[in-house]
This record gives sequence, structure tokens and C-alpha cells, in this order.
Amino acid sequence: MANRLSAGGKYSVCLLEAGARDWSPLIHIPAGVPLILPTRHVNWALETVPQKGLNGRRGFQPRGKTLGGSSAINAMLYVRGHKWDYDHWAALGNQGWSYDDILPYFKKSENNEGGSDQYHGTGGPLNVTRPRSPNPFTAAFLQAMENRQLPLTEDFNGPQQEGGSLFPVTQKNGLRHSAAAAYLTPIKGRENLTIITTAHIARVLLSGNKASGVEYIKGNKKHTIKARKEVILSGGAFGSPQILMLSGIGPDEELNQHGIEVRHHLPGVGQNLQDHIDYISNYRRPSWTLYGYSWSMLLRLPWAGLRFLFKRAGFLTTTYAEAGAFLKTDASAEIPDIQLHFVPALVDDHNRKILLGTGVSCHVCLLRPKSVGSLGLISANPLDPPRIDPAFLSHADDITRLIKGFKIMRSIMEAPPLNGLPEEDIFGQNMGDDRAIEQEIRSRADTVYHPVGTCKMGVDDMAVVDAQLKVRGISNLRVVDASIMPTLIGGNTNAPTIMIAEKAADMILSER
Ligand SMILES: Cc1cc2nc3c(=O)[nH]c(=O)nc-3n(C[C@H](O)[C@H](O)[C@H](O)COP(=O)(O)OP(=O)(O)OC[C@H]3O[C@@H](n4cnc5c(N)ncnc54)[C@H](O)[C@@H]3O)c2cc1C
Repeated sequence: MANRLSAGGKYSVCLLEAGARDWSPLIHIPAGVPLILPTRHVNWALETVPQKGLNGRRGFQPRGKTLGGSSAINAMLYVRGHKWDYDHWAALGNQGWSYDDILPYFKKSENNEGGSDQYHGTGGPLNVTRPRSPNPFTAAFLQAMENRQLPLTEDFNGPQQEGGSLFPVTQKNGLRHSAAAAYLTPIKGRENLTIITTAHIARVLLSGNKASGVEYIKGNKKHTIKARKEVILSGGAFGSPQILMLSGIGPDEELNQHGIEVRHHLPGVGQNLQDHIDYISNYRRPSWTLYGYSWSMLLRLPWAGLRFLFKRAGFLTTTYAEAGAFLKTDASAEIPDIQLHFVPALVDDHNRKILLGTGVSCHVCLLRPKSVGSLGLISANPLDPPRIDPAFLSHADDITRLIKGFKIMRSIMEAPPLNGLPEEDIFGQNMGDDRAIEQEIRSRADTVYHPVGTCKMGVDDMAVVDAQLKVRGISNLRVVDASIMPTLIGGNTNAPTIMIAEKAADMILSER
């Protein structure tokens, strides 16, 4: 947004970010992700309220806190979702958001190293490429899928999403290409763009029903900044609705509860929280090629460092989830409803629990869960985290489908050439019947990091923004991020969020 709106030099843009600049090498070296994930380093490290559907556990919600937001700490998988998702948005009344409408914005954002065609673009800021050095076990996963007579696909973002494949990645020359690396770093010197980091937005300033600027906290001091044209919130699915509520825009009951003056009753703010619930199976296996907390890995690290330094290849370029699949739990369904992420390493609890040794793991997540949660406030203090309740597995259909997905995932992990390889199935013993599987899922599942929907775009009473992403009832205020998705898409959410920003920038510039 900041890049597109400041291009041409006609408008001045001020970008405010709560986190610091994206200087950390753990951001840029792809294999650094698991070291960021469990910490507060460039990470908000939020938690949900206790989840009844997860046996009362709190979910963990890492979110990027630096320039580039979560694209600076994500797994770099470039996935757009299914054509069906966007046609569904349009069918809900969101004019201009059908697949045919949004495809040009995916292409505009993209510099696909594979070249351009009907589905892909070149020359855009965001570099998309194939993984540089996939682990040999990743090929074994795709072979196991084939041996189970499951489909493979050439391109998750092309004509056929269904099937297994390597994930394309947002990397350039072996380094992470976050939204900041792609869109901000190249234009740092633009005179009409001001970037202020460690600036925590406290609220949007309103004169009547018009947004006139923002108040932010930097170094324990409050500052204000006036907007001549408009204010755009891109705080993500947790940040944007929280800022709206702190500004007095939201459900009156929620605002009254925290003593916030209601400036505009907008009941949908914070509602409609949707996220991908995910379960991970782990199989321990001693290996000289798998990644993990092991002696073998320690011995390989110096070589990996040199390969990265001189060739920008090898282990340090891994995204861990190197291959995956979109599959149907019901063969007669129109579109896939589960996604797998295969990882040539052991993973548990967002790396907050360390599994020693090497091994393979596989995530299974539900693509369009029917469980819908909400986001609220715990206080009127902008520095407090929001109250996050994804209501995971609160809808009975979700657990039924996830159990089916679990069985499909396990059938692949136990097929040749993967079968016989695993030495120890760490969590999956005693999975005799569906009740046992349900218990296992409820005791270990959590997010796969795709919260959306809390400032949903739409035409109904619960819509927060309209199809131009303008906040309903307030002028000069838009929301542009994953929170505007009316429904969770069937795939990872970074590329779709960048598409949303490309389209929003285009709408704003053509309106002016
Ligand atoms: C660990 C992880 C792995 C992921 N893996 C993938 C993947 O491989 N592929 C994929 O497609 N998607 C992935 N995602 C999801 C994807 O990165 C997000 O959907 C996407 O980045 C959302 O963009 P956003 O702009 O809505 O929010 P964010 O990227 O979260 O950006 C919000 C920004 O607003 C800032 N902010 C929030 N509140 C305030 C405030 N009060 N004041 C000032 N600034 C504020 C934040 O610091 C942040 O910079 C992953 C996410 C995570 C966390």
C-alpha cells in the first residue's frame, strides 16, 4: 500500500509500525523461522482465551511485529486459495472480488521466476520461486501420495489446486522476500514516504464521523498525526479490529464494558474470526539428511552455513513445510477441504516444546472451518493484547472432517517409501477408533496461522467495510489486511493479503 500510494510522488504517505525495523538476520535467513516463533523477538506472541474445543487449552498466535508484519516471520509459502473462494466472496455481494476480478492483482504483485502465463505474472515486486534445496524426504512424501493413488498437481495456484506438490516460495536469491523486502526496501529513499517504527497506534482520531488522523505511542509518549486524505488500518486480523474498538468504533456493548465512548456502533467489528485449525503428526527417525535438534544437524551446520554464504542454497533456505497437498475428505465434494504441510523435521506446539532428534512431520488443517469466533478487548489500554477467541472446533462438522483428514494424512505417512522409515510415531499410538483420534486432536491441535475476517467486507449488518474497504459509517477510513476477508480462503493467507492491498491501492488511486 505504502509503495503503490507513494509512487508517482503525488501523495505523501506515512507508514506507522509498532515493531522495529526488519534488521534481524533471523527474518531474512529462511531457516530462522522456528527460532522466532516461540519468542517475542519481532513477534507479538499472542494467546487465545482457553478453548473449550481444545480441552480448555489456550491457543498460541504468533504475529509479526516489524516492517512486513507476519510476512517477516511466516513460512514463505506462496498459495492463493481456490478460485471458488473469491467467486464466493462476490456471491456474498462483494462486487469486484470474483476470481476473474482479483487474478490481475495477484499477477501484478508477482515476479514469478517460472515466467508469466494466464495465472502468473512477472515484473511485480514480490519474488516467487521454487524451493532451492528441497530435502530428499520431501520427494518421498510426494511419492507416498502417488503410491496411495492420490493426485499430484503442477501448480497449486494454477488451473488445478487439488493434489500434492512442492510449495512455491516468496524468496529472492535464497532470502525471505517479505512484503517489506518486496515493496518497502527498494523505495526507502522516496521523499514522499515517511516510515515511523516502534509507533504503537492507540486510536484513530475522529472529527464527527470522519477520520482525521491517528494517535500513537512511541517511547512512552503520545503523538498525533493528521491525515489530509485518509487513514488506512493494516494491523492484521487482531490489530485492526482492536484499534477500531479503541477508537469507539465497534459493538456498543463491548465498548461500554470498557468505558470507551461509542463514536459509531458497528456490531461486526471483531466478530467473524475464522482460522485454520491444524494437527501435526510426528515420526522420529535418525537421519543425516533430516533437520532437527540433533548431533547430526550440529555437525552439518558449518557446511550449511558455507553453502548459504557462497551459494544461497542448502538447509538455511528451507521453509520447513516444503511440500503439501490440497485434498478432499469427501470424494464427491466440489473443492478440497483439507491442506497438508509436510515437514522434514519434528514440530510440536509452535516449537515451544522441543522434540529432540530428527524425524518427519505432517500438518493437516481444515480449510473452511464452520467454527467462527470473535475478538474483543480485555481493557481500554491500547498496549494490552486483545481478547482472542477463535472458538476452535466448536462446530461438530469440523471435528468430523478433521478426523477424516487425519486418517488421510496418516495413510500417506504410512505409505511407501515413507513407511518403514519412521522409527517412532511420537503421538499417534493407540489411535484405534474415532474417539481416540478426536481426543488426540483436541489435546494437540492449534492454529496454522491464518486468522481472518474480523473486519469483514460485505453488505449485511455485520459487515465492517464495504467492497471499497471503507469502514461503514465513517468517512476517510479504510481497513486493508486479512481482517477484511468475509470468509477464510482455502489456502495460506499471505499472497491473498498482498492481493487485497494491490487492489485497494488501485481503488484508492483511481478514486482520486
Ligand atoms: C508463523 C506464521 C507462519 C505463516 N506462514 C504463512 C505462509 O507460509 N504462507 C502464507 O501465505 N501465509 C502465512 N502466514 C500468514 C500470513 O503471513 C498472514 O496472513 C499475513 O501476513 C497477514 O497480513 P496482514 O497485513 O493482515 O497482517 P500482519 O502481516 O500481521 O501485519 C499487521 C502489522 O500491523 C502491525 N500492528 C498491529 N497492531 C498495531 C498497532 N496497534 N500499531 C502499530 N502497528 C500495529 C503489526 O506489527 C504488523 O506489522 C503465516 C503467519 C504466521 C504468523
